[in-house]
Amino acid sequence: MLKKWIVGIFTLIVGTIILIVTFILLILSMKPNPQSTTPEIVKPRNALPIITEKRGITRINGHVIVNKQYGLPQTYKPGENKAARYKLNQLLHKAEKEHISLKYISGYRSYDDQKQVVETYTQKDGKQTAQSYTAPPGHSEHQTGLAFDVGTDFPMKDFHKDFEKSEESKWLTQHAADYGFIIRYPKGQSQQTGYAYEPWHLRYVGHQLANIITEGDTNLESYYHLNHELK
Ligand SMILES: [Zn+2]
Repeated sequence: MLKKWIVGIFTLIVGTIILIVTFILLILSMKPNPQSTTPEIVKPRNALPIITEKRGITRINGHVIVNKQYGLPQTYKPGENKAARYKLNQLLHKAEKEHISLKYISGYRSYDDQKQVVETYTQKDGKQTAQSYTAPPGHSEHQTGLAFDVGTDFPMKDFHKDFEKSEESKWLTQHAADYGFIIRYPKGQSQQTGYAYEPWHLRYVGHQLANIITEGDTNLESYYHLNHELK
């Protein structure tokens, strides 16, 4: 009788454990959150930015910073950021649904890819002109895997100041932040960013920061008080 009791309780315990484990596995196997692939992004809890520098990579509150002052080493090859690309695809899909013909043009470029780009443009336009619109290797935000250039169905508008006047550009300005992107080099802020207005260049910073920067009509350098160091 006692033996039967022990076997019964034992079966009950084992059964419960199996049930709990199955439940946990079920939850874990559910749709993964793409945000979780960028655990380095720190949600700002106060106004003071936390600047870290590790192996030549500067991060502010977890966001990789690349501009004329802060560069990336040749060895930094993170590839395309999956969470950022997922969000870009969602953004482009939303545009398509609203009959806006936004297209992916370019994304991740390694240090060596950028070197090649600079050489090609230098041969085409000369060193000085090429330098005015192309970042030197190590200083292109595309090396972070978090930056994308978008365009239209009309190649003449792409990478051209006329893109600004297009319906696509207007739509992008209104919706980019909803998907965690900022127009990295906004109009009239070249003094702060170091770059002329590029309405097609998006940088993924996550939903929270994208909204703050877009609503404040500002940029990463101004928001994180890096202006004085750029000059
Ligand atoms: Zn770009």
